[in-house]
Amino acid sequence: MSIVLNEKEWTEQAISSHQLGKKPFETLNRVARYYYQVEKYKRKDICNKLEDFLLQCDADVILVKWSEAIDRIVRWVDKYPLIELDGVCITESEVETIENLQGCQIRRFAFTLLCIAKYWDAVREENNGWVNTQDKDIMKMANVNTSIKRQNQMLHEMKSVGLLRFGKRVDSLNIQVMFIGANSPTSIHITDFRNLGNQYLLHCGGAYFQCGHCGLAIKKKNNAHKYCPDCADQMYFKKSVESVMRNRSENLLSKIVV
Ligand SMILES: [Zn+2]
Repeated sequence: MSIVLNEKEWTEQAISSHQLGKKPFETLNRVARYYYQVEKYKRKDICNKLEDFLLQCDADVILVKWSEAIDRIVRWVDKYPLIELDGVCITESEVETIENLQGCQIRRFAFTLLCIAKYWDAVREENNGWVNTQDKDIMKMANVNTSIKRQNQMLHEMKSVGLLRFGKRVDSLNIQVMFIGANSPTSIHITDFRNLGNQYLLHCGGAYFQCGHCGLAIKKKNNAHKYCPDCADQMYFKKSVESVMRNRSENLLSKIVV
């Protein structure tokens, strides 16, 4: 499952906006757990609720294609409680450990692995620093765009200084983060798992900022730069609509006056 700090709020938003998102199976899983754990629906009713949700998201959906997945999701609906975290604390000693690594890329990578490990530690007591998120998702969160070879070099570098241990699974990254220093004051409180690499650089005083609308940490181009590209597009669209509406009402008013 991908990282969501507050699954209850996330799911309420998905249900009200009829959004299946980029990972439909994960969304359905959360919707099913929400109906079971929060709304207290019975398992047999949850199947119908999931079908209704799918139809709301896409009126042309072929429900029979989903029936097996829905059965499986509903069977496990009580397995994991909905996650409700307000964030993950990164401590001063952890930040110091990362600063000892040589290079900006490897620091962003280490910071991201640490944030993910601490998230899963907060969710599952028995996690003990393990990360098994897909490598491409980790690199995206770390804002690191590099080759697999370089990625492996960085992992081995961190392993050689005792910061990581590798698990036995070979199909995905299965890493144990060994530098979790819980007994140290909080340095950064992470409430957003997008662009963790940029958040780290922002914390280190880099030319980064958080979007004034959605909070995404991005590189600052100039002092007038206030929003991330998605929000800037939305703002531009909203302003254009408002301007057209204003002009129309002004024209209408002038005709009435004449
Ligand atoms: Zn934004």
